[in-house]
Amino acid sequence: MNEIKPQLHYSLLSHNTFGIQAHADCFIQYTSVEQLLQAIACYREHYAGRPLLHIGGGSNLLFMQDFPGVILHSAIEGVELLAQEEERVLVRVGAGMNWDSWVEYSLSQGWYGLENLSLIPGEVGASAVQNIGAYGAEAAQFIRKVECVDLSDGSLRTFDVEECDYGYRHSVFKTLHRGRYAVTHVQFALSLRFSPNLSYHGLTSALQESGKTEANLTAQDIRETVIAVRRQKLPDPQVQGNAGSFFMNPVVPVSLYNRLKESHATIPCYRVDDDNVKIPAAWLIEQCGWKGRSLGKAAVHARQPLVLVNAGGASGKDIMELCRCVQADVRERFGIALQPEVMILSNFCI
Ligand SMILES: Cc1cc2nc3c(=O)[nH]c(=O)nc-3n(C[C@H](O)[C@H](O)[C@H](O)COP(=O)(O)OP(=O)(O)OC[C@H]3O[C@@H](n4cnc5c(N)ncnc54)[C@H](O)[C@@H]3O)c2cc1C
Repeated sequence: MNEIKPQLHYSLLSHNTFGIQAHADCFIQYTSVEQLLQAIACYREHYAGRPLLHIGGGSNLLFMQDFPGVILHSAIEGVELLAQEEERVLVRVGAGMNWDSWVEYSLSQGWYGLENLSLIPGEVGASAVQNIGAYGAEAAQFIRKVECVDLSDGSLRTFDVEECDYGYRHSVFKTLHRGRYAVTHVQFALSLRFSPNLSYHGLTSALQESGKTEANLTAQDIRETVIAVRRQKLPDPQVQGNAGSFFMNPVVPVSLYNRLKESHATIPCYRVDDDNVKIPAAWLIEQCGWKGRSLGKAAVHARQPLVLVNAGGASGKDIMELCRCVQADVRERFGIALQPEVMILSNFCI
C-alpha cells in the first residue's frame, strides 16, 4: 500500500468553485480505505483537537478564512457491478469519482435513471451527503447503500438508504452525523429499461423545443437537453466563481403565503404538504431588486438570482456580506429568513 502524503499550508483555490483563496494547515488526499485509515491516524497523532473536514469537489463550500486543521479528500474511483437482475443493476461507485463522469458512464452501459441529474458539479460521495437534485430527480431515488468510515475511530459503517433520512437537499450526514463520516463508496440501483422522467415542466418544454417527442426519446436526449439548459441558465464556475444555488427555497406555512399574496398578487409557490408551501427564493431576491446587482467583488447573477458569484478576486467575507444584505432585504420585505444552501466555513464550529 502506498503511503499518504500530507501536504502542509495547502492552497484550496482549486478545491472550491467559488474561486476563494484560502489555505489548509494540512491536506490529505487518499485513494483507498486503507489510506483513509492512515490519514485518520495522522490527524490523531499530529492535529488532535483541531478541525477536521472532508471535502469533495468544493462546489458547495464557502471558505471564510484559512482552515486551521486537516482537510481530507477522496480519490477513490472505480465502478463495480454488484448484481444484475432482469430489470435493474446494483452498482458500487467510489466516492471520489466525478459525479457527471459517473452519470455519463452509467448511460453508456445502458443503466438508466441518472440522466436528469447530468452536469451537477461535484463528486459521488457528496451526492449522498447532499441528496443532489435537479429536473424532477434526486440522488436518493437511486441510492441503496452509503459506505462510510467513522472519522472518530476508523470503524466501517454501511447505511441503508432508509437510515439516511433523505429529504430536499437533506440527509443524516448533514444533521445528526454532520462531519462524522467519510463516505467511501455509494451503491446505486439503476434500471435496465429506460423510462423518461418528465415530471419537471422546464425539461419537457426544452425537449419539445428541440423537436423531441416522448415516442422517440432516449436517455441521451434527456442528458443532452439537461446539459444545454444548465449551460444556458447557470454560470460556469471555471469562468465566474460560484457554488450554484446559494440559498434554499424557503418552506413557509400556507397562512403566511396567503397573507403575502394579499400584497404581492403574483407570488409563486409549490405545495409541499397540506400546511406548507415552497416559495422560489429567486423570485423573492429579484423582487428586492438584487438580480444582477453587485456589492464590491461579489454579485447576484444576472440570469439566476439564486446564484451569488465571485465577480473577481472576492474573499469569502465579500460573498457573505452580499449574502447578509440579500437576507436582510428579503426578511424586511417578506418576513422570510433565507437559509444558505452552501456550507459556510467560518469559526470552524463544524
Ligand atoms: C454551477 C453549479 C450548479 C449546481 N447545481 C446543483 C443542482 O442542480 N442540484 C444540486 O443538488 N446541487 C447543485 N450544486 C451544488 C453542488 O454541486 C452539490 O452540492 C454537490 O453535491 C457538491 O459536491 P462536491 O463534491 O463539490 O462537495 P463539496 O462541496 O466539497 O462538499 C459538500 C458537502 O459534502 C461533504 N462531503 C463531500 N464529500 C464527502 C465525502 N466523501 N465524505 C463525507 N462528506 C463529504 C462536505 O463535507 C460538505 O458537507 C451546484 C453547484 C454549482 C457550482
